[in-house]
Amino acid sequence: MRICGIQGVSAIDFPGRIASVLFLGGCNFRCPFCQNPDLVLNLDSLETHMPDDVVRAIEHRAGFVDGVVVTGGEALIHGQELIPFIRRLRDVGMMVKLDTNGYEIEVLHEVLAQGLIDFVAMDVKTSLSRYEQAAGRSLNVRRIREAVTAILESGVAHEFRTTCVPGLVQEEDVCAIGSLLGSGARYVLQQFRNTSAALLDPRYAGITPYPSGVLQSFRDAIRPLVASVTVRGL
Ligand code: SF4
Repeated sequence: MRICGIQGVSAIDFPGRIASVLFLGGCNFRCPFCQNPDLVLNLDSLETHMPDDVVRAIEHRAGFVDGVVVTGGEALIHGQELIPFIRRLRDVGMMVKLDTNGYEIEVLHEVLAQGLIDFVAMDVKTSLSRYEQAAGRSLNVRRIREAVTAILESGVAHEFRTTCVPGLVQEEDVCAIGSLLGSGARYVLQQFRNTSAALLDPRYAGITPYPSGVLQSFRDAIRPLVASVTVRGL
């Protein structure tokens, strides 16, 4: 398991918590609009923090932070190494939020079943019919369906979120996502940013984000299908 980045304090990444954020290197997807391409493709160019040191540092921050966000890359690819690591974070008093694309479904089932996470945020890239285009690889969309169901049935606090990339996410995709998630889901539409220093596929830097009115119309379209929907990043 490679911990390639640490943000000591964040007030926005874990709802209701002041949290540290851990960026785990490596990913099983190749989303062309990814804003962390080094975490996906260039791990050897990044510093690696030892899990023991990270747990100690977080324990020392316990007066300032009460949560840890485990994000990536894709954290669940670290499988059986990740599980004891999360347990250690809990042992030093931290609530844990997991950010995931959901594809490592076996590990997701395990962390949910063992009660290891307090909040899970799953990226739903687009409608299942064009998921491969958004994820940048061939895949089995049944695993995406299964991840959504596992999260909803777990009772763990959650959000599903979609970055609204023109060309990958249109209103018909948002409606299909709404049908996939269903009436128990909390959903977030995120604005696409093309201003990052580098996107995984540099051609995506040339894509103009949707105007705010388009995201608001997406919100209105999905609202009847899910429990709640918000727009982020306008
Ligand atoms: S945006 Fe896609 S490629 Fe980038 S870290 Fe997330 S799942 Fe992986």
